[in-house]
Amino acid sequence: MNVIKLIDKLYQENSLAKNEIIYILNNIKNAEIDYLCEKAVITRKKYYDNKVFIRGLIEFTNYCKNDCYYCGIRRSNRNISRYRLNLDEIMSCVDLGYKLGYKTFVLQGGEDNYFTDDKIIEIVKSIKNKYNDCAITLSIGEKSYDSYKKFFDAGADRYLLRHETATKDHYEKLHPKNLKLSNRINCLKNLKDIGYQVGAGFMIDSPYQSNENLAEDLIFIKELNPEMVGIGPFISHHDTIFKDEPTGSLEKSIIILALTRLLLPSALIPATTALGTINPKGREAGLNAGCNVVMPNLSPTNVRSKYALYDNKICTGDEAAECRKCIEKRINMAGYILDTSRGDNINWNRPL
Ligand code: SAH
Repeated sequence: MNVIKLIDKLYQENSLAKNEIIYILNNIKNAEIDYLCEKAVITRKKYYDNKVFIRGLIEFTNYCKNDCYYCGIRRSNRNISRYRLNLDEIMSCVDLGYKLGYKTFVLQGGEDNYFTDDKIIEIVKSIKNKYNDCAITLSIGEKSYDSYKKFFDAGADRYLLRHETATKDHYEKLHPKNLKLSNRINCLKNLKDIGYQVGAGFMIDSPYQSNENLAEDLIFIKELNPEMVGIGPFISHHDTIFKDEPTGSLEKSIIILALTRLLLPSALIPATTALGTINPKGREAGLNAGCNVVMPNLSPTNVRSKYALYDNKICTGDEAAECRKCIEKRINMAGYILDTSRGDNINWNRPL
């Protein structure tokens, strides 16, 4: 096998076998990484031109009933101060976001039972009633088919639920026993069946991760064919059992992002905050590896630092308007154009 030949094959066929992906991950070197990124950028351009879509991220609760070993807002972390935004506070974020030109709002939080289905429905409906030209993305974890269906019927358009790792053994090293990979995958399938635009994804260099695990993640997303893929480097949080684990590498992140673009040419792939946290030009590097979405923070500044999934998260002190301006400048400097439309996946039609 030969890395360049495999990249060419992937570029032409948008598909590779697991052993071919592993071969690339084990052997790829500098010039080949540039070549891979070039192919990823050309592929992204065919579908989305030079556009980068923006989504306003509202982190509305950091309470969580789960205890994922890597996550700073895990239940057993007693050292963080917990917060919830009420409907008015959420609507203030949305109002401000709308004024700043956002047409997609991502509501993300821990798995917080305080927010019953009825409360989520009320939030979704309030946003949709006021701004019916906007898309709503939910990212609130594992729920039943019925709950997902109710949120969708209330007007939610998209759902982000990273699968975290597609390998069962690896999943069990990152999560307590009550959390099952099979359930997470079932949730993703339910979300697809209901008609959401769905986002799966995983961390790069999470503890115990091998190149074989990463290849399984890539094969998994190829098969699931989600509309969105969220991928970012693992970054340790000082109050978790993984506090001494090394930070994910930018190079590895870039390779995986570019491979993802080539496997799923029309996917919406964010250059994540985590990527911007491990390197000041991380998000730009992501755009140059085929990413086409950024998700600036719209949460009120007084809660920003409390939504600490990992240490040293960037932009926790900036006002929403500053973030919006900063991100536009960065996108333009990198040679891309900020697109403020809803930014649906081009292959997606909302079911009737
Ligand atoms: N409760 C929601 C949202 C989770 S937070 C859910 O279950 O989907 C969003 C994502 O942040 C997670 O899916 C995870 O991949 C990522 N994340 C959590 N801890 C992290 C860490 N220490 N480093 C990098 N990413 C992390």
